[in-house]
Amino acid sequence: MTSYDTIIIGTGQAGPALARRLAGTGMKIAIVERGRFGGTCVNTGCTPTKTLVASAYAAHVARRAADYGFTTGGNVKVDMKRVKARKDYVAGLSNRGVERSLKKLENCRVYEGHARFVSPREIQIGTEVLGSDRIFINVGGRAAVPEIPGLDQVEYFINSTMMDVDFLPRHLLVLGGSYIGLEFGQMYRRFGSEVTIIEIGPRLIPREDEDVSEAVAGFLAREGIALRLNAKCLGLSKTGDEIMMRLQCGDGTPEIRGSHPLIATGRRPNTDDLGLERAGVQRDSRGFIEVDDELRTNVPGIWALGDCNGRGAFTHTSWNDFEIVAANLLDGDRRRVSDRIPAYALYTDPPLGRAGMTEAEVRKSGRQALVGKIAMEDVSRAFEKGETEGFMKILVDANTKEILGASFLGVSGDEAIHCVLDAMYAKAPYTVLQRAMHIHPTVSEFIPTILGDLAPLPEPAAQRSAAA
Ligand SMILES: Cc1cc2nc3c(=O)[nH]c(=O)nc-3n(C[C@H](O)[C@H](O)[C@H](O)COP(=O)(O)OP(=O)(O)OC[C@H]3O[C@@H](n4cnc5c(N)ncnc54)[C@H](O)[C@@H]3O)c2cc1C
Repeated sequence: MTSYDTIIIGTGQAGPALARRLAGTGMKIAIVERGRFGGTCVNTGCTPTKTLVASAYAAHVARRAADYGFTTGGNVKVDMKRVKARKDYVAGLSNRGVERSLKKLENCRVYEGHARFVSPREIQIGTEVLGSDRIFINVGGRAAVPEIPGLDQVEYFINSTMMDVDFLPRHLLVLGGSYIGLEFGQMYRRFGSEVTIIEIGPRLIPREDEDVSEAVAGFLAREGIALRLNAKCLGLSKTGDEIMMRLQCGDGTPEIRGSHPLIATGRRPNTDDLGLERAGVQRDSRGFIEVDDELRTNVPGIWALGDCNGRGAFTHTSWNDFEIVAANLLDGDRRRVSDRIPAYALYTDPPLGRAGMTEAEVRKSGRQALVGKIAMEDVSRAFEKGETEGFMKILVDANTKEILGASFLGVSGDEAIHCVLDAMYAKAPYTVLQRAMHIHPTVSEFIPTILGDLAPLPEPAAQRSAAA
Protein backbone atom coordinates (compact mmCIF):
# COMPACT_ATOMS: atom_id res chain seq x y z
CA MET A 1 0.00 0.00 0.00
CA THR A 2 1.21 3.52 -0.79
CA SER A 3 0.43 6.14 1.84
CA TYR A 4 -0.46 9.75 1.18
CA ASP A 5 -1.35 12.74 3.34
CA THR A 6 -4.43 13.26 1.18
CA ILE A 7 -6.30 11.35 -1.53
CA ILE A 8 -8.71 13.09 -3.89
CA ILE A 9 -11.08 11.02 -6.06
CA GLY A 10 -12.16 12.85 -9.20
CA THR A 11 -10.82 15.86 -11.10
CA GLY A 12 -14.06 17.87 -11.42
CA GLN A 13 -14.31 21.44 -10.23
CA ALA A 14 -13.31 20.95 -6.59
CA GLY A 15 -10.64 18.22 -6.75
CA PRO A 16 -7.86 19.91 -8.78
CA ALA A 17 -8.16 23.22 -6.89
CA LEU A 18 -7.99 21.39 -3.58
CA ALA A 19 -4.98 19.37 -4.79
CA ARG A 20 -3.17 22.63 -5.63
CA ARG A 21 -3.93 24.21 -2.25
CA LEU A 22 -2.97 21.13 -0.22
CA ALA A 23 0.14 20.31 -2.29
CA GLY A 24 1.24 23.91 -1.75
CA THR A 25 1.41 23.25 1.99
CA GLY A 26 3.87 20.42 1.36
CA MET A 27 1.38 17.58 1.80
CA LYS A 28 1.83 14.47 -0.32
CA ILE A 29 -1.26 14.18 -2.51
CA ALA A 30 -2.74 11.46 -4.74
CA ILE A 31 -5.49 12.44 -7.17
CA VAL A 32 -7.44 9.85 -9.18
CA GLU A 33 -9.33 10.28 -12.45
CA ARG A 34 -11.13 7.48 -14.29
CA GLY A 35 -12.26 9.50 -17.30
CA ARG A 36 -11.42 12.86 -18.77
CA PHE A 37 -9.56 15.44 -16.72
CA GLY A 38 -11.74 18.36 -15.71
CA GLY A 39 -14.91 16.28 -15.37
CA THR A 40 -18.39 17.24 -16.53
CA CYS A 41 -18.09 21.03 -16.79
CA VAL A 42 -15.03 20.94 -18.99
CA ASN A 43 -15.83 17.92 -21.19
CA THR A 44 -19.59 17.37 -21.41
CA GLY A 45 -21.24 20.22 -19.50
CA CYS A 46 -20.79 23.97 -19.25
CA THR A 47 -17.79 24.64 -21.49
CA PRO A 48 -18.81 22.65 -24.57
CA THR A 49 -22.51 23.53 -24.32
CA LYS A 50 -21.86 27.25 -23.94
CA THR A 51 -19.44 27.06 -26.89
CA LEU A 52 -22.21 25.41 -28.94
CA VAL A 53 -24.74 27.97 -27.70
CA ALA A 54 -22.40 30.68 -29.03
CA SER A 55 -22.37 29.06 -32.50
CA ALA A 56 -26.15 28.72 -32.42
CA TYR A 57 -26.51 32.38 -31.39
CA ALA A 58 -24.28 33.51 -34.27
CA ALA A 59 -26.38 31.51 -36.75
CA HIS A 60 -29.55 32.99 -35.27
CA VAL A 61 -28.27 36.57 -35.59
CA ALA A 62 -27.09 35.87 -39.14
CA ARG A 63 -30.62 34.71 -40.02
CA ARG A 64 -31.93 37.96 -38.58
CA ALA A 65 -29.52 39.93 -40.76
CA ALA A 66 -32.28 41.98 -42.36
CA ASP A 67 -33.43 43.22 -38.92
CA TYR A 68 -30.00 44.80 -38.48
CA GLY A 69 -29.66 46.14 -41.99
CA PHE A 70 -27.31 43.72 -43.73
CA THR A 71 -27.48 40.68 -45.98
CA THR A 72 -25.69 37.38 -45.74
CA GLY A 73 -25.86 36.41 -49.38
CA GLY A 74 -28.31 33.53 -49.06
CA ASN A 75 -29.50 30.93 -46.62
CA VAL A 76 -27.50 30.55 -43.45
CA LYS A 77 -26.30 26.94 -43.35
CA VAL A 78 -24.52 25.50 -40.36
CA ASP A 79 -21.53 23.22 -40.89
CA MET A 80 -21.82 20.87 -37.92
CA LYS A 81 -18.32 19.46 -38.40
CA ARG A 82 -16.87 22.94 -37.93
CA VAL A 83 -19.22 23.72 -35.07
CA LYS A 84 -18.04 20.55 -33.33
CA ALA A 85 -14.39 21.29 -34.12
CA ARG A 86 -14.73 24.71 -32.48
CA LYS A 87 -16.36 23.13 -29.44
CA ASP A 88 -13.65 20.45 -29.25
CA TYR A 89 -10.94 23.09 -29.46
CA VAL A 90 -12.37 25.19 -26.62
CA ALA A 91 -13.20 22.24 -24.35
CA GLY A 92 -9.90 20.55 -25.24
CA LEU A 93 -7.89 23.53 -24.02
CA SER A 94 -9.52 23.30 -20.58
CA ASN A 95 -9.27 19.51 -20.44
CA ARG A 96 -5.57 19.48 -21.33
CA GLY A 97 -4.93 22.44 -19.04
CA VAL A 98 -6.32 20.55 -16.02
CA GLU A 99 -4.37 17.39 -16.92
CA ARG A 100 -1.09 19.24 -17.48
CA SER A 101 -1.36 21.32 -14.34
CA LEU A 102 -2.02 18.26 -12.17
CA LYS A 103 0.70 16.15 -13.74
CA LYS A 104 3.34 18.79 -13.17
CA LEU A 105 2.13 19.73 -9.68
CA GLU A 106 4.85 19.25 -7.11
CA ASN A 107 3.95 16.84 -4.26
CA CYS A 108 1.07 15.41 -6.31
CA ARG A 109 0.83 12.03 -8.04
CA VAL A 110 -1.90 11.47 -10.62
CA TYR A 111 -3.51 8.02 -10.91
CA GLU A 112 -5.66 7.16 -13.92
CA GLY A 113 -8.33 4.57 -13.20
CA HIS A 114 -11.52 3.87 -11.28
CA ALA A 115 -11.13 4.29 -7.52
CA ARG A 116 -13.13 2.30 -4.97
CA PHE A 117 -12.97 2.33 -1.19
CA VAL A 118 -11.75 -0.90 0.40
CA SER A 119 -11.89 0.52 3.94
CA PRO A 120 -12.48 3.95 5.51
CA ARG A 121 -8.79 4.76 5.02
CA GLU A 122 -7.94 2.91 1.78
CA ILE A 123 -8.93 3.02 -1.85
CA GLN A 124 -8.06 0.67 -4.67
CA ILE A 125 -7.31 1.53 -8.31
CA GLY A 126 -6.76 -1.64 -10.35
CA THR A 127 -4.29 -3.61 -8.28
CA GLU A 128 -2.88 -0.64 -6.40
CA VAL A 129 -4.01 0.26 -2.91
CA LEU A 130 -3.54 3.80 -1.58
CA GLY A 131 -4.03 4.81 2.03
CA SER A 132 -4.66 8.13 3.73
CA ASP A 133 -6.29 9.63 6.83
CA ARG A 134 -7.86 12.30 4.64
CA ILE A 135 -9.95 11.40 1.58
CA PHE A 136 -11.96 13.85 -0.54
CA ILE A 137 -14.66 12.53 -2.89
CA ASN A 138 -15.34 14.69 -5.97
CA VAL A 139 -16.87 12.12 -8.31
CA GLY A 140 -19.68 14.23 -9.85
CA GLY A 141 -22.68 12.80 -11.61
CA ARG A 142 -24.04 11.55 -14.91
CA ALA A 143 -27.27 11.60 -16.89
CA ALA A 144 -30.11 9.72 -15.21
CA VAL A 145 -31.76 7.58 -17.86
CA PRO A 146 -35.31 6.51 -16.90
CA GLU A 147 -36.61 3.03 -17.61
CA ILE A 148 -38.80 3.50 -20.67
CA PRO A 149 -40.05 0.53 -22.69
CA GLY A 150 -38.12 0.23 -25.93
CA LEU A 151 -35.42 2.75 -25.00
CA ASP A 152 -32.79 0.02 -25.00
CA GLN A 153 -33.84 -0.92 -28.56
CA VAL A 154 -33.16 2.49 -30.10
CA GLU A 155 -30.14 4.74 -30.34
CA TYR A 156 -30.49 7.75 -28.09
CA PHE A 157 -28.33 10.61 -26.91
CA ILE A 158 -27.53 11.94 -23.45
CA ASN A 159 -25.54 15.11 -22.76
CA SER A 160 -22.18 13.32 -23.02
CA THR A 161 -22.87 11.52 -26.31
CA MET A 162 -24.28 14.75 -27.81
CA MET A 163 -20.69 15.95 -27.65
CA ASP A 164 -19.77 13.56 -30.51
CA VAL A 165 -22.48 14.79 -32.87
CA ASP A 166 -20.97 16.30 -36.02
CA PHE A 167 -24.07 16.16 -38.21
CA LEU A 168 -27.46 17.80 -38.16
CA PRO A 169 -30.14 15.54 -36.67
CA ARG A 170 -33.22 15.91 -38.86
CA HIS A 171 -35.62 15.97 -35.92
CA LEU A 172 -34.43 15.95 -32.31
CA LEU A 173 -36.92 14.61 -29.77
CA VAL A 174 -35.81 16.12 -26.46
CA LEU A 175 -37.24 14.26 -23.50
CA GLY A 176 -37.20 16.68 -20.55
CA GLY A 177 -38.11 20.36 -20.57
CA SER A 178 -35.67 21.56 -17.94
CA TYR A 179 -32.29 23.30 -18.03
CA ILE A 180 -30.24 20.81 -20.09
CA GLY A 181 -33.08 19.90 -22.48
CA LEU A 182 -33.90 23.53 -23.23
CA GLU A 183 -30.31 24.51 -23.96
CA PHE A 184 -29.83 21.62 -26.38
CA GLY A 185 -33.30 22.08 -27.89
CA GLN A 186 -32.83 25.74 -28.73
CA MET A 187 -29.28 25.34 -30.02
CA TYR A 188 -30.22 22.48 -32.38
CA ARG A 189 -33.25 24.40 -33.64
CA ARG A 190 -30.87 27.25 -34.49
CA PHE A 191 -28.44 24.83 -36.15
CA GLY A 192 -31.36 23.83 -38.40
CA SER A 193 -32.94 20.72 -36.85
CA GLU A 194 -36.60 20.27 -36.22
CA VAL A 195 -37.00 20.06 -32.45
CA THR A 196 -39.76 18.75 -30.21
CA ILE A 197 -39.42 19.11 -26.44
CA ILE A 198 -41.48 16.64 -24.41
CA GLU A 199 -42.15 17.55 -20.79
CA ILE A 200 -44.16 15.47 -18.34
CA GLY A 201 -45.19 18.49 -16.23
CA PRO A 202 -47.66 21.20 -17.16
CA ARG A 203 -44.88 23.73 -17.84
CA LEU A 204 -41.20 24.00 -18.75
CA ILE A 205 -38.53 24.43 -16.03
CA PRO A 206 -41.03 23.70 -13.26
CA ARG A 207 -38.68 24.91 -10.50
CA GLU A 208 -38.94 28.44 -11.86
CA ASP A 209 -41.86 30.83 -11.46
CA GLU A 210 -44.78 30.43 -13.84
CA ASP A 211 -44.09 33.77 -15.55
CA VAL A 212 -40.54 32.56 -16.33
CA SER A 213 -41.77 29.22 -17.72
CA GLU A 214 -44.38 30.98 -19.81
CA ALA A 215 -41.94 33.51 -21.28
CA VAL A 216 -39.37 30.80 -22.11
CA ALA A 217 -42.06 28.62 -23.73
CA GLY A 218 -43.13 31.67 -25.74
CA PHE A 219 -39.76 32.48 -27.28
CA LEU A 220 -38.91 28.82 -27.92
CA ALA A 221 -42.25 28.31 -29.68
CA ARG A 222 -41.68 31.46 -31.76
CA GLU A 223 -38.41 29.93 -32.96
CA GLY A 224 -40.37 26.95 -34.22
CA ILE A 225 -39.74 24.46 -31.41
CA ALA A 226 -42.70 22.15 -30.81
CA LEU A 227 -43.55 21.89 -27.12
CA ARG A 228 -45.45 18.94 -25.75
CA LEU A 229 -46.38 19.66 -22.13
CA ASN A 230 -48.26 17.28 -19.81
CA ALA A 231 -46.87 14.51 -22.00
CA LYS A 232 -45.47 11.31 -20.53
CA CYS A 233 -43.28 9.16 -22.73
CA LEU A 234 -44.72 5.62 -22.66
CA GLY A 235 -42.27 3.98 -25.03
CA LEU A 236 -39.99 4.26 -28.02
CA SER A 237 -39.65 2.15 -31.11
CA LYS A 238 -37.90 2.30 -34.44
CA THR A 239 -39.98 2.41 -37.61
CA GLY A 240 -37.83 2.52 -40.74
CA ASP A 241 -35.30 5.29 -40.20
CA GLU A 242 -37.52 7.07 -37.71
CA ILE A 243 -37.96 6.88 -33.95
CA MET A 244 -41.52 6.80 -32.74
CA MET A 245 -42.33 8.03 -29.26
CA ARG A 246 -45.67 7.08 -27.71
CA LEU A 247 -47.12 9.64 -25.34
CA GLN A 248 -49.74 9.73 -22.64
CA CYS A 249 -51.10 13.21 -23.06
CA GLY A 250 -54.19 15.38 -22.84
CA ASP A 251 -53.64 17.46 -25.97
CA GLY A 252 -51.99 16.66 -29.26
CA THR A 253 -51.15 13.45 -31.01
CA PRO A 254 -50.29 10.42 -28.84
CA GLU A 255 -47.45 9.49 -31.21
CA ILE A 256 -44.62 11.64 -32.41
CA ARG A 257 -41.85 10.79 -34.82
CA GLY A 258 -38.36 12.10 -35.02
CA SER A 259 -34.85 11.05 -36.03
CA HIS A 260 -32.93 11.19 -32.72
CA PRO A 261 -34.10 11.13 -29.08
CA LEU A 262 -32.12 13.08 -26.49
CA ILE A 263 -32.75 12.03 -22.89
CA ALA A 264 -32.46 15.05 -20.59
CA THR A 265 -34.54 13.97 -17.61
CA GLY A 266 -32.10 14.68 -14.79
CA ARG A 267 -28.78 13.72 -13.23
CA ARG A 268 -27.64 11.08 -10.76
CA PRO A 269 -24.51 10.97 -8.59
CA ASN A 270 -21.56 8.68 -9.42
CA THR A 271 -21.71 7.06 -5.99
CA ASP A 272 -23.03 3.61 -6.88
CA ASP A 273 -19.70 2.00 -7.73
CA LEU A 274 -17.38 3.66 -5.23
CA GLY A 275 -17.28 1.03 -2.49
CA LEU A 276 -18.87 3.50 -0.07
CA GLU A 277 -20.42 0.68 1.92
CA ARG A 278 -16.92 -0.65 2.74
CA ALA A 279 -15.97 2.78 4.08
CA GLY A 280 -19.28 3.14 5.95
CA VAL A 281 -20.08 6.42 4.17
CA GLN A 282 -23.80 7.19 4.21
CA ARG A 283 -25.82 8.13 1.14
CA ASP A 284 -29.38 9.41 0.97
CA SER A 285 -32.23 7.65 -0.86
CA ARG A 286 -31.20 9.27 -4.17
CA GLY A 287 -27.57 8.21 -3.82
CA PHE A 288 -26.12 11.58 -2.76
CA ILE A 289 -23.42 11.40 -0.11
CA GLU A 290 -24.68 12.93 3.13
CA VAL A 291 -22.51 15.80 4.38
CA ASP A 292 -22.65 18.40 7.14
CA ASP A 293 -22.38 22.15 6.71
CA GLU A 294 -18.58 21.84 6.24
CA LEU A 295 -18.91 18.97 3.75
CA ARG A 296 -17.74 16.24 6.14
CA THR A 297 -19.36 12.84 5.68
CA ASN A 298 -20.43 10.69 8.62
CA VAL A 299 -16.97 9.03 8.55
CA PRO A 300 -14.24 11.20 10.11
CA GLY A 301 -11.52 11.98 7.56
CA ILE A 302 -13.79 11.67 4.51
CA TRP A 303 -15.36 14.68 2.77
CA ALA A 304 -17.64 14.88 -0.30
CA LEU A 305 -17.56 17.88 -2.65
CA GLY A 306 -19.47 18.89 -5.77
CA ASP A 307 -22.50 17.31 -7.42
CA CYS A 308 -22.11 14.02 -5.53
CA ASN A 309 -23.16 15.59 -2.21
CA GLY A 310 -26.52 16.88 -3.45
CA ARG A 311 -25.88 20.35 -2.02
CA GLY A 312 -25.52 21.93 -5.45
CA ALA A 313 -25.55 20.93 -9.10
CA PHE A 314 -23.34 23.57 -10.62
CA THR A 315 -19.73 24.28 -11.36
CA HIS A 316 -19.79 27.27 -9.03
CA THR A 317 -21.29 25.22 -6.16
CA SER A 318 -18.54 22.60 -6.57
CA TRP A 319 -15.89 25.33 -6.67
CA ASN A 320 -17.46 26.92 -3.59
CA ASP A 321 -17.29 23.52 -1.87
CA PHE A 322 -13.52 23.56 -2.48
CA GLU A 323 -13.29 27.06 -0.98
CA ILE A 324 -15.28 25.99 2.09
CA VAL A 325 -13.12 22.92 2.73
CA ALA A 326 -9.85 24.79 2.12
CA ALA A 327 -10.91 27.68 4.39
CA ASN A 328 -11.84 25.32 7.22
CA LEU A 329 -8.78 23.08 6.90
CA LEU A 330 -6.07 25.57 6.07
CA ASP A 331 -7.16 29.09 6.90
CA GLY A 332 -8.95 28.72 10.23
CA ASP A 333 -11.88 30.45 8.54
CA ARG A 334 -15.19 28.77 9.37
CA ARG A 335 -17.03 28.86 6.08
CA ARG A 336 -20.23 26.86 5.62
CA VAL A 337 -22.47 25.66 2.81
CA SER A 338 -25.45 27.38 4.43
CA ASP A 339 -23.68 30.75 3.97
CA ARG A 340 -24.21 30.64 0.24
CA ILE A 341 -27.13 32.12 -1.67
CA PRO A 342 -28.65 30.00 -4.43
CA ALA A 343 -27.61 31.38 -7.82
CA TYR A 344 -27.44 29.96 -11.32
CA ALA A 345 -28.22 30.63 -14.95
CA LEU A 346 -30.10 28.91 -17.73
CA TYR A 347 -28.30 29.47 -21.02
CA THR A 348 -31.15 29.73 -23.42
CA ASP A 349 -31.05 32.89 -25.50
CA PRO A 350 -31.99 35.12 -23.81
CA PRO A 351 -30.55 33.59 -20.64
CA LEU A 352 -32.16 33.40 -17.23
CA GLY A 353 -30.07 34.65 -14.30
CA ARG A 354 -31.37 33.61 -10.90
CA ALA A 355 -30.49 34.65 -7.35
CA GLY A 356 -32.12 33.73 -4.05
CA MET A 357 -35.78 32.82 -3.74
CA THR A 358 -38.33 32.49 -6.51
CA GLU A 359 -41.66 34.27 -6.17
CA ALA A 360 -43.26 30.92 -5.28
CA GLU A 361 -40.72 30.40 -2.48
CA VAL A 362 -41.29 33.91 -1.15
CA ARG A 363 -45.04 33.29 -1.06
CA LYS A 364 -44.48 29.97 0.72
CA SER A 365 -42.26 31.65 3.31
CA GLY A 366 -45.23 33.78 4.37
CA ARG A 367 -43.14 36.96 4.39
CA GLN A 368 -44.74 40.24 3.50
CA ALA A 369 -43.06 41.02 0.22
CA LEU A 370 -42.82 43.66 -2.46
CA VAL A 371 -42.13 42.92 -6.10
CA GLY A 372 -40.81 44.96 -8.99
CA LYS A 373 -40.84 43.85 -12.61
CA ILE A 374 -39.94 45.33 -15.96
CA ALA A 375 -40.39 43.90 -19.45
CA MET A 376 -37.18 43.73 -21.49
CA GLU A 377 -38.92 45.66 -24.27
CA ASP A 378 -38.86 48.62 -21.87
CA VAL A 379 -35.11 48.25 -21.29
CA SER A 380 -33.34 50.56 -23.72
CA ARG A 381 -30.21 48.41 -24.09
CA ALA A 382 -32.32 45.39 -25.02
CA PHE A 383 -34.32 47.48 -27.47
CA GLU A 384 -31.17 48.87 -29.07
CA LYS A 385 -29.81 45.35 -29.48
CA GLY A 386 -33.08 44.09 -30.92
CA GLU A 387 -33.32 41.44 -28.20
CA THR A 388 -36.42 42.25 -26.19
CA GLU A 389 -37.68 38.87 -24.97
CA GLY A 390 -38.17 38.39 -21.23
CA PHE A 391 -38.36 40.50 -18.09
CA MET A 392 -36.53 41.33 -14.87
CA LYS A 393 -38.16 40.72 -11.51
CA ILE A 394 -36.91 41.48 -7.98
CA LEU A 395 -38.53 40.53 -4.68
CA VAL A 396 -37.82 42.24 -1.37
CA ASP A 397 -39.05 41.94 2.21
CA ALA A 398 -41.53 44.75 2.86
CA ASN A 399 -40.52 45.07 6.52
CA THR A 400 -36.76 44.47 6.65
CA LYS A 401 -35.95 45.77 3.11
CA GLU A 402 -33.88 42.60 2.59
CA ILE A 403 -33.54 41.51 -1.04
CA LEU A 404 -35.13 38.07 -1.23
CA GLY A 405 -34.55 37.03 -4.80
CA ALA A 406 -34.49 37.92 -8.47
CA SER A 407 -35.14 36.39 -11.87
CA PHE A 408 -33.60 38.17 -14.84
CA LEU A 409 -34.78 36.56 -18.05
CA GLY A 410 -33.36 38.66 -20.82
CA VAL A 411 -30.29 39.72 -22.72
CA SER A 412 -27.31 39.81 -20.29
CA GLY A 413 -29.53 38.45 -17.50
CA ASP A 414 -26.75 36.01 -16.53
CA GLU A 415 -24.40 38.96 -15.88
CA ALA A 416 -26.77 41.63 -14.56
CA ILE A 417 -28.07 39.27 -11.85
CA HIS A 418 -24.72 39.64 -10.05
CA CYS A 419 -25.61 43.23 -9.03
CA VAL A 420 -28.45 41.78 -7.00
CA LEU A 421 -26.52 38.74 -5.81
CA ASP A 422 -23.62 40.80 -4.49
CA ALA A 423 -25.96 43.20 -2.69
CA MET A 424 -27.59 40.13 -1.10
CA TYR A 425 -24.18 38.87 0.07
CA ALA A 426 -23.44 42.31 1.48
CA LYS A 427 -26.79 42.07 3.31
CA ALA A 428 -27.53 45.54 1.99
CA PRO A 429 -31.14 46.74 2.11
CA TYR A 430 -32.63 47.14 -1.35
CA THR A 431 -32.54 50.92 -0.91
CA VAL A 432 -28.75 50.82 -1.36
CA LEU A 433 -29.16 49.37 -4.85
CA GLN A 434 -32.12 51.65 -5.53
CA ARG A 435 -29.93 54.71 -4.96
CA ALA A 436 -26.89 53.43 -6.87
CA MET A 437 -26.05 55.24 -10.10
CA HIS A 438 -25.65 52.61 -12.83
CA ILE A 439 -24.10 53.03 -16.26
CA HIS A 440 -26.22 53.93 -19.28
CA PRO A 441 -27.10 52.15 -21.51
CA THR A 442 -26.97 48.80 -19.73
CA VAL A 443 -29.46 46.22 -18.64
CA SER A 444 -28.30 46.76 -15.05
CA GLU A 445 -29.24 50.45 -15.08
CA PHE A 446 -32.87 49.36 -14.70
CA ILE A 447 -32.26 47.65 -11.36
CA PRO A 448 -32.60 50.95 -9.42
CA THR A 449 -35.67 51.74 -11.53
CA ILE A 450 -37.32 48.41 -10.68
CA LEU A 451 -36.56 48.94 -7.00
CA GLY A 452 -38.05 52.43 -7.13
CA ASP A 453 -41.32 51.03 -8.35
CA LEU A 454 -42.10 48.17 -5.98
CA ALA A 455 -45.63 47.04 -5.21
CA PRO A 456 -47.07 44.52 -2.74
CA LEU A 457 -46.87 40.99 -4.09
CA PRO A 458 -50.30 40.35 -5.62
CA GLU A 459 -52.30 37.37 -4.47
CA PRO A 460 -51.85 34.40 -6.78
CA ALA A 461 -54.60 34.03 -9.38
CA ALA A 462 -55.89 30.76 -7.85
CA GLN A 463 -56.35 32.31 -4.39
CA ARG A 464 -58.02 35.36 -5.89
CA SER A 465 -60.62 33.30 -7.73
CA ALA A 466 -61.25 31.09 -4.65
CA ALA A 467 -61.85 34.21 -2.54
CA ALA A 468 -64.26 35.56 -5.16
C1 LIG B 1 -25.08 19.59 -20.36
C2 LIG B 1 -24.67 20.25 -19.07
C3 LIG B 1 -24.51 21.61 -19.01
C4 LIG B 1 -24.13 22.23 -17.82
N1 LIG B 1 -24.01 23.58 -17.81
C5 LIG B 1 -23.65 24.20 -16.65
C6 LIG B 1 -23.47 25.60 -16.62
O1 LIG B 1 -23.62 26.29 -17.61
N2 LIG B 1 -23.10 26.17 -15.44
C7 LIG B 1 -22.90 25.42 -14.31
O2 LIG B 1 -22.56 25.98 -13.27
N3 LIG B 1 -23.06 24.09 -14.33
C8 LIG B 1 -23.43 23.46 -15.46
N4 LIG B 1 -23.56 22.11 -15.49
C9 LIG B 1 -23.30 21.35 -14.25
C10 LIG B 1 -21.80 21.21 -14.02
O3 LIG B 1 -21.19 20.67 -15.16
C11 LIG B 1 -21.55 20.32 -12.81
O4 LIG B 1 -22.29 20.83 -11.73
C12 LIG B 1 -20.08 20.30 -12.42
O5 LIG B 1 -19.27 19.89 -13.49
C13 LIG B 1 -19.90 19.37 -11.22
O6 LIG B 1 -18.57 19.23 -10.94
P1 LIG B 1 -18.05 18.20 -9.88
O7 LIG B 1 -16.84 18.84 -9.33
O8 LIG B 1 -19.09 17.82 -8.92
O9 LIG B 1 -17.71 16.86 -10.66
P2 LIG B 1 -17.52 16.47 -12.18
O10 LIG B 1 -17.15 17.64 -12.99
O11 LIG B 1 -18.67 15.68 -12.61
O12 LIG B 1 -16.22 15.56 -12.11
C14 LIG B 1 -16.18 14.34 -11.47
C15 LIG B 1 -14.99 13.56 -11.97
O13 LIG B 1 -14.81 12.40 -11.18
C16 LIG B 1 -14.45 11.31 -12.02
N5 LIG B 1 -14.83 10.07 -11.31
C17 LIG B 1 -16.08 9.66 -11.01
N6 LIG B 1 -16.04 8.49 -10.34
C18 LIG B 1 -14.73 8.18 -10.20
C19 LIG B 1 -14.05 7.09 -9.60
N7 LIG B 1 -14.71 6.13 -8.96
N8 LIG B 1 -12.71 7.06 -9.68
C20 LIG B 1 -12.02 8.05 -10.30
N9 LIG B 1 -12.61 9.11 -10.88
C21 LIG B 1 -13.96 9.18 -10.83
C22 LIG B 1 -15.23 11.56 -13.29
O14 LIG B 1 -14.64 10.90 -14.38
C23 LIG B 1 -15.16 13.07 -13.41
O15 LIG B 1 -14.05 13.47 -14.18
C24 LIG B 1 -23.91 21.45 -16.66
C25 LIG B 1 -24.04 20.06 -16.72
C26 LIG B 1 -24.42 19.47 -17.90
C27 LIG B 1 -24.56 17.98 -17.92
